[in-house]
Amino acid sequence: MHTRRQGRARESPEETVQRFRGVDFLHLDELLSEEERLARDSVREFTSREFLPHVQEHVRRDGSFPLKLIPRMAELGLFGANLHGYGCAGMNNVAYGLIMQELERGDSGLRSFASVQGSLVMYPIHSYGSGVQKERWLPALAAGRAVGCFGLTEPEAGSHVAGLRTQAKQRGDVWILNGTKRWITNGSIADVAVVWAHSEEGVLGFLVEKGQPGFEVRDIHGKFSLRASITSELFLSDVEVPEANRLSSARGLSAPLSCLNQARYGIAWGALGAAMACYEEALGYSLEREVQGGRLAAKQLTQQKLVDMLTEITKGQLLALRLGRLKDEGKLHPAMVSLAKRNNVDVALRIAREARDLLGANGIVDDYQAMRHLVNLETVRTYEGTHDIHTLIVGEYITGQRAL
Ligand SMILES: Cc1cc2nc3c(=O)[nH]c(=O)nc-3n(C[C@H](O)[C@H](O)[C@H](O)COP(=O)(O)OP(=O)(O)OC[C@H]3O[C@@H](n4cnc5c(N)ncnc54)[C@H](O)[C@@H]3O)c2cc1C
Repeated sequence: MHTRRQGRARESPEETVQRFRGVDFLHLDELLSEEERLARDSVREFTSREFLPHVQEHVRRDGSFPLKLIPRMAELGLFGANLHGYGCAGMNNVAYGLIMQELERGDSGLRSFASVQGSLVMYPIHSYGSGVQKERWLPALAAGRAVGCFGLTEPEAGSHVAGLRTQAKQRGDVWILNGTKRWITNGSIADVAVVWAHSEEGVLGFLVEKGQPGFEVRDIHGKFSLRASITSELFLSDVEVPEANRLSSARGLSAPLSCLNQARYGIAWGALGAAMACYEEALGYSLEREVQGGRLAAKQLTQQKLVDMLTEITKGQLLALRLGRLKDEGKLHPAMVSLAKRNNVDVALRIAREARDLLGANGIVDDYQAMRHLVNLETVRTYEGTHDIHTLIVGEYITGQRAL
């Protein structure tokens, strides 16, 4: 299918981006419903036309998310797309995964925005919140009128979630929250923060609203990775949260972990989008670049690199699609999600690095995408359970032994 490209006129990096038609070596499109393909194609169009022309300025500036796209993303049904009711699109999990793929084909920061809003904020409210909380927040979050963030990680507690130190103490019908949350996506633009804290009743979840006395937010600067995304620290000092703002059905660490499982599922798809962008760019570049008396694409070493990329993308697609079908059938186990997140992010990172290499010196400038995806994927490897943590989850699942 790729031989068609030979002999076409030289194209600019922008044209490569606009031309993106996806990578589908095994005709997996035939396994998708029309609705799933439509969801994917509309987000593909959005990413190409409305996001990618502006990503460079957001990455170059001191790291900012294109806030003006939020209403448009809401219009496309991208927030909480696999949730039902309350203004959510109610798509199946394969369509949801394809959406994540297309967003991350643009940038991991774009996908992160939708992941946090949907899987880490709307999902816990939908699953653990009261009727009043659902009515108040879900339609607003789905419509992009409100933004949310998810506060689990702390300066001293990342992978070791059980070590979180934020405390919630009950006083009458209010809870007093004290602690610090770090590395929180969308923290400073959030109207509501889902904050997880230890209490005498175990880990509980709270909806902390912007501007509450004692609640302060500060952005983290100097990031090399995920620059088109806002990352913040949340400071809670004697913040009074009414009992009505507690997620009443959430009790214990299994509640935040269930949210992470939703987001990790989306990442297993999303990482493939970044990998596809890098593969397409490297393929297009190597077909045009002349090296030592011939096209770069005509060198055996180059073909091996491109074939390895295509092979890993194809394997990752099969994995993601099967995962989605299992999720829709209610047969998904968290260890399956761990295996997929671990694998697909790992291969995406390797593909981004190989693509950057094939672009030579051009690969280090932001006219091309590979380097941006490469540094973004370093974050994606770390957040939502590091590569190591997913190794331990799958290891424990298959051996029954918790490794120390
Ligand atoms: C840009 C960005 C956005 C983020 N957004 C959010 C957000 O919205 N909300 C949120 O709550 N968090 C968020 N995070 C935090 C993220 O989830 C954590 O960074 C992640 O869980 C890892 O925690 P840590 O950074 O403390 O690393 P650590 O847990 O300290 O890990 C350091 C190293 O030790 C390894 N390690 C840890 N435990 C073990 C073990 N038992 N055995 C062997 N090796 C181990 C890890 O794999 C890693 O290599 C974000 C992070 C980033 C970078």
